[in-house]
Amino acid sequence: MSDPNCLFCKIAGGAIPAKIVHQDEHVVAFEDINPQAPTHVLVIPRAHVASLDALADGDHEMAGRVMHRAAEIARARGLMPDGYRVVFNCGPGAGQTVYHIHAHLLGGRGFGWPPG
Ligand code: AMP
Ligand code: ZN
Repeated sequence: MSDPNCLFCKIAGGAIPAKIVHQDEHVVAFEDINPQAPTHVLVIPRAHVASLDALADGDHEMAGRVMHRAAEIARARGLMPDGYRVVFNCGPGAGQTVYHIHAHLLGGRGFGWPPG
């Protein structure tokens, strides 16, 4: 459930400090340490899953909670109706650097498409 070598498991467990914006039994959300937009929040499940690629059938509820929490934080910050972006980087080619699944909630500026 928790990986002792995982940075985000340590943040979820309180062993490494972060600017927590939400936490409950299932998910934790905190400010990204290197923000790429005025709002840049990471939403993670407490349970350790390495990436989107590692999601299992039994993880559907957890994945839904992560996405729903991103939307709730976006709403609380007034990011609609302008809009915002939610990104899951999966694997090295997509830029994933921390192998504990996380949603990036980005908002407060415009975003180009296609992404870089
Ligand atoms: P990714 O590259 O998609 O795996 O995203 C990892 C994100 O974690 C990056 O945006 C980093 O800035 C962020 N990050 C790394 N270490 C920390 C930390 N200690 N606290 C908050 N965010 C972090
Ligand atoms: Zn982890």
